[in-house]
Amino acid sequence: MRIYIHVPFCKSKCPYCAFFSRPWKAVDNHSLEQWEQFICREMRLHAMETGTQTIDSIFFGGGTPSLVPPASIYRVINEAAKLFSFAKTIEISLEANPESVTSENAHGFRSAGVNRVSVGVQSFDESLLRAIGRIHGNRQTHHAVDCFRRAGFNNIGIDLMWGLPSESLGSWLSQLKEAVSLFPEHLSCYALTIEQGTPFSRGRPPLPSDDMLSSMYLECCDFLEHAGYRHYEVSNFARPGYECRHNTGYWQGEDYLGLGPSAVSSFRGKRWTQPPDIAQWMSGILKGDLHPQTEILTGKDVVHEYVMLRLRMADGLPLSRLYLAAGDKPKPSIMDLCQDLVREGMAVICGGSISLTSRGMLVSNAIIERFFEELDADG
Ligand code: SF4
Repeated sequence: MRIYIHVPFCKSKCPYCAFFSRPWKAVDNHSLEQWEQFICREMRLHAMETGTQTIDSIFFGGGTPSLVPPASIYRVINEAAKLFSFAKTIEISLEANPESVTSENAHGFRSAGVNRVSVGVQSFDESLLRAIGRIHGNRQTHHAVDCFRRAGFNNIGIDLMWGLPSESLGSWLSQLKEAVSLFPEHLSCYALTIEQGTPFSRGRPPLPSDDMLSSMYLECCDFLEHAGYRHYEVSNFARPGYECRHNTGYWQGEDYLGLGPSAVSSFRGKRWTQPPDIAQWMSGILKGDLHPQTEILTGKDVVHEYVMLRLRMADGLPLSRLYLAAGDKPKPSIMDLCQDLVREGMAVICGGSISLTSRGMLVSNAIIERFFEELDADG
């Protein structure tokens, strides 16, 4: 099982971001202590319900987990260790923003048991950083990665964004070169998307054209693969053996518990979401309401999710499972769709699985929709 812990605080709110977080300036020691106490309480209640589970990964995400004092992160990890059994190879990840990393807290996180960090760099171009409302600069990025290396982290991820306002292909390629020069073990490269309800959705910045976005994605895949990174998921690249185990668990459909406001859990066929509000989350936990907004996943939901997640991964979708999902007998139309995708250069069939090529991953959402239509069609 995996545990996700949501840290609902950020120094300032980025105009494209739809994740739940509150401004750090409004956070005092008392609210931090409360967050920690309620995370531990939520974890204890789950442990009473689920029994002693083996935990393969813990992920502190947010928000900005690197704002939380390492002593607090240590106490949360310690509580988890008392309640659950840790796998020998447990991965404990923490998301960090460059402006909140110092030599002291990097050492503190390492001593607390964190063994993987994911640094929210987004860009090395200071004007692009300003255009998306980020508050750090290039010097802080280099300093943060250096602090983590010196603190003994040998598994560092860098998160980048592409398709930023007025970004050119040349500028994106130089971001990638600078990222690789820091020798991260992992890179996540997500396109800027305009999420509803964010300031960017109300005043849309000038984004690159669709043709430019396609070139950015394909050139990125090519560049990183040549630099020794395996393209193991639509937006994720890793040196061999450094794939993010926590996210791979999600993508393989494993159970996970999400703790904290707005966190989502998926456990034994049920999915629930904590309210995106600190007071409501705490009041639910006080009442022992562990599964707010529960959905029971139907057979169709499970199949759709499996097909979607598998097609997003380089290991691909086993054809035997796809045919099984389509009913008792393989549907000719599903087989035709697989063959069409191979002919169009969007997929390859190898070792009994269908996997998308980089060109296929670029339009993975549309391809996944085609699979859903075929799976849901009668006959
Ligand atoms: S720092 Fe990250 S979580 Fe916080 S507002 Fe910006 S993008 Fe969102």
